[in-house]
Amino acid sequence: MSDTDSDASVAECPQGREQHSFQTEAKQLLHLMVHSLYSNREIFLRELISNAADACDKLRFLAVSDAALLGEDTELRICISVDAEAKTITISDNGIGMNHDEVIANIGTIARSGTREFLQQLQDSKNDQRAELIGQFGVGFYSAFIVADEVTVETRHAGADAGAAVRWQSAGEGEYTLEPISREQRGTDVIIKLKDDAEEFLQEYRLRSIIQRYSGHISFPVQLLTTPPADDDDAEKQTPEWQTINDTTALWTRPKTDISDEEYIDFYKSIGNDSAAPLTWTHNHVEGAQSYKLLLFVPGQAPYDMMFNRDERQGLKLYVQRVLIMDAAEQLLPNYLRFVRGVVDSADLPLNVSREILQENDLLQKIRSAVVKRSLTMLEKLSADADKYQQFWKHFGTVLKEGIVEDMGNRDAIAKLLRFPSTRTGLDGSTSLNEYIENMAEGQDTIWYVTADNLKAAAGSPHLEWFREQGIEVLLLGDRIDEWLMGYWFEFDGKSLKSIAKGKLDTGAEEEPEAADKAVLERLHKLLEDRVESVTSSARLKQSVACLVLDENAMAMHMQQLLQQAGQDVPSSKPGLEVNLQHPLWQRLQSAQEQQFEDLGWLLYEQAVLSGGGQLDDPAAFVQRTNRLLTSTD
Ligand code: ADP
Ligand code: MG
Repeated sequence: MSDTDSDASVAECPQGREQHSFQTEAKQLLHLMVHSLYSNREIFLRELISNAADACDKLRFLAVSDAALLGEDTELRICISVDAEAKTITISDNGIGMNHDEVIANIGTIARSGTREFLQQLQDSKNDQRAELIGQFGVGFYSAFIVADEVTVETRHAGADAGAAVRWQSAGEGEYTLEPISREQRGTDVIIKLKDDAEEFLQEYRLRSIIQRYSGHISFPVQLLTTPPADDDDAEKQTPEWQTINDTTALWTRPKTDISDEEYIDFYKSIGNDSAAPLTWTHNHVEGAQSYKLLLFVPGQAPYDMMFNRDERQGLKLYVQRVLIMDAAEQLLPNYLRFVRGVVDSADLPLNVSREILQENDLLQKIRSAVVKRSLTMLEKLSADADKYQQFWKHFGTVLKEGIVEDMGNRDAIAKLLRFPSTRTGLDGSTSLNEYIENMAEGQDTIWYVTADNLKAAAGSPHLEWFREQGIEVLLLGDRIDEWLMGYWFEFDGKSLKSIAKGKLDTGAEEEPEAADKAVLERLHKLLEDRVESVTSSARLKQSVACLVLDENAMAMHMQQLLQQAGQDVPSSKPGLEVNLQHPLWQRLQSAQEQQFEDLGWLLYEQAVLSGGGQLDDPAAFVQRTNRLLTSTD
């Protein structure tokens, strides 16, 4: 027995029959799946056909280097038949099959990393989203139990002897049995004994429409055993025959002009684990020194797997002359485009490439950079449609932003695709950088922005006051990643990108403070010496009393704090404190005595921290101070 077998119990029964238990999680999963997917029961067929197609893909791939695996049975296919009397559906394939240990590891164990998240998501999600989750989390096989009283799997690995086949059987209630059997052909039969209330699936037209709907683009023939309609009176003599239900010409190999939007959309749904239509797509046949075909889609919504970063399920499928080589997201797509779905089919890559070779393969690098260019162009075109682009941005904007740092070579193209709310557009609107530049006043050479923990904090920053007064637009950056991003990005289209909260601001209206003010500024600095680098009179504040200003190259306070909380060593740089000398609090400060000066001084500083989106290290002291000031009578 293999060491992947982590079953709770295994018992040997007569004739080599083994009784196994699923792990606790598996029981929970089966239970939930059956009960939460009731309104979408037909997807079980999609999942089983997809597994059969995967099995055929695997065999076709291995047979490239070992033709003996295929033998004489070279027509890979998926066959579906029903037995109305026995109330069973059988899904057969002549793909790779499984041996004893693989059966245990693949369908007896639900130990894969995604299972727990899957359970959580299943509980949290709405009815119509649940069906998609199954395919995304790699638990598709178990969907058979939505309609089955009992599931039997009979399988023989390609290349194994007829006597080395296995039968797996379970009623989906915590146990399964395994026994050795003999089987003529390689591959797998999944036999579903339908529940009484699932007999609709015995009907031919029902099966046909499900297969067409969900599996229309499987690249192997999906055949249904059908009885031709009776003509004349000899209906009994009609013999059932296999009928291919799907269209097996790979869509991406067909000329664009022959393909309808509807076909593209259906194809996307079949490869993208998504029930919604894509936002856009691009389809290219590239011929030349190297030839390849690309079909790329932008989804209309962010899938769950992107959040959990399940890389192996993401991105693009790599084919070599229509043979699926792998889901090769990392090699074909940079991280920041990980939402793109689709197919790359190369005519020139060797069929027997391995993952390691792919990494260093020149050809693949070229295809990758073509994929990137095409993806960016596709997004550029999409941006002409404001509504669609907004939808795209909502789901994938923060991912795309990573490209500014990750892909220097395409930085400008990526930058044009970014959108930010600004003081001009308001929090619900957004502007591109080009639009920002068009709106600049004569002589403005800087693109101004402010970062904060969230948009509201950004919009409330006291640093904005002078800019608002001057009518200078400021981009409001409230995504976590923005501060990181702006730490690497200083220029766009010949204009510098600057934070309004960093560095000295040249307003042209700075005045030397009077001697009395100067003395108080110095006194205040003495008080706050540990926290601030300097205390100066501010030209940028109009309503607020104080704000913190960081060094040009320093990291924003909220980011410093975030990293410190995460236990990272951050070179903390002391900010400068700017004070609004026109503010009534400043007058109070000027006349304040010892204790009150101290309280007011600290309060000024703490207000600046808070309104800059930072957190106080000692909130209790802040509260006490405030109360002392509120209750003092002088
Ligand atoms: P996924 O297909 O996402 O891996 P499933 O739960 O659908 O998850 O299937 C689990 C595993 O069981 C598959 O990865 C595969 O190894 C194995 N399997 C299922 N059906 C077949 C089949 N028809 N032929 C060979 N292996 C299969
Ligand atoms: Mg599957």
